[in-house]
Amino acid sequence: MQIIDGKSLSQKIKRDIAKETQNLKETSNIVPGLAVIIVGDDPASRTYVGMKAKSCKEVGFYSIVHEMPETITQDEILETIKMMNTNPRIDGILVQLPLPKHIDTDKILGIIDPTKDVDGFHAYNVGKLVTGLDSFVACTPLGVMEMFKEYNISLEGKDVCVVGASNIVGKPMASLLLNANATVTITHIFTKDLKAHTSKADIIVVGVGVPKLIKEDMVKDGAIVIDIGINRIEDGSLVGDVDFENVSKKCSFITPVPGGVGPMTIAMLLKNTLKSAIARD
Ligand code: NAD
Repeated sequence: MQIIDGKSLSQKIKRDIAKETQNLKETSNIVPGLAVIIVGDDPASRTYVGMKAKSCKEVGFYSIVHEMPETITQDEILETIKMMNTNPRIDGILVQLPLPKHIDTDKILGIIDPTKDVDGFHAYNVGKLVTGLDSFVACTPLGVMEMFKEYNISLEGKDVCVVGASNIVGKPMASLLLNANATVTITHIFTKDLKAHTSKADIIVVGVGVPKLIKEDMVKDGAIVIDIGINRIEDGSLVGDVDFENVSKKCSFITPVPGGVGPMTIAMLLKNTLKSAIARD
């Protein structure tokens, strides 16, 4: 069994991005810029935004964090995004989710200029992904694809079971896998017999938010298991969606939590922002 080390891979990617950023500054006088909007005081969201801002600094990006109170109106957020859309210093715009209940998330994501949509959530980019065209792709599934590449895991013809079908994780993950010629099964909360699907899969990619959902009897010998889940349990520690201790014994490759997919997500956000900045050149 081999551990897929997302932490060290993400550090390697960040070093490459820092070099490319320096090069872009020297050759074109362009500094990639990321703007993040955060609404309210959700502690997890604040942590994620803090990590994103810190990573931007590490690689030499310009970054701004626009903090808004929970009581902000939808129109005020829309106006802020419109200003960011036309700000030439900003290459990427990210709205930290979830947004408060009185805000229409689809409307907010839909106003972001698709050429600055570094989270890949805009319907324009989702459509391009599904049709196999170059686009901004959601950072978490993109990070998983980088892991497959780094560890020489071929996807062509493989049976892959994606567990979880959200717009930000499961659906773009399934599209990327399909584009890589895998045979993809997408499962979710209404799937009748989850084990029947996971136990046949060469590769399982799970992102649902349920600790230890994937148990050893649901995984075939030699399978590759990618755990996207991040769950804080009672003792305060972070765990994924996989019963790592028991499942790992059956796997050929497995990602840990923490230190697996999580750090890759931020690395891909930086990669998408750099891609946008290069397109401005
Ligand atoms: P979500 O709530 O939007 O979607 C959850 C999906 O899982 C849904 O499709 C639902 O049908 C499915 N699901 C729920 N319970 C299930 C069950 N018992 N069996 C099968 N399917 C089930 O969540 P999300 O935003 O997609 O996030 C999912 C998980 O991934 C969370 O733990 C989140 O913290 C984590 N996440 C991690 C990263 C990262 O960077 N590693 C990024 C985004 C999300």
